[in-house]
Amino acid sequence: MTAAVSGPEFVDVLLFIAVAGLFLLFARDWTVRLAGVVLMLPRLLVAPLTLGEVLLFGCTVVAAISRVVYGWSFGPSEPEREAPEAPDVPEPDDVSEPAVCVACRGSIPAGANKCPQCGWSYAAG
Ligand SMILES: [Zn+2]
Repeated sequence: MTAAVSGPEFVDVLLFIAVAGLFLLFARDWTVRLAGVVLMLPRLLVAPLTLGEVLLFGCTVVAAISRVVYGWSFGPSEPEREAPEAPDVPEPDDVSEPAVCVACRGSIPAGANKCPQCGWSYAAG
């Protein structure tokens, strides 16, 4: 299990880089995944993997592939956030226009954030 072309320390460095590449396999971007594969190649080429490394790489690669397949089965793009955009709905703290008090149904004049009839305010509500 000794490297023919380089010392064990160099192989350890390559292993560290390869492990970093393993994490890149879980990235969303395919270019990042490809970069992860590229990072793994030097370690795979310079010396034969130990049994532990085979298990580490094998399990991680299988997990990465499973994640990709899992993502594909539910669509090409995973929903990062559910952000229903409603630009027409005024914000609760929008005091630029007269509003209707939610407590007494009275009218709140523009520029005020507090109902003059019952004292209800946006801050408290
Ligand atoms: Zn009111």
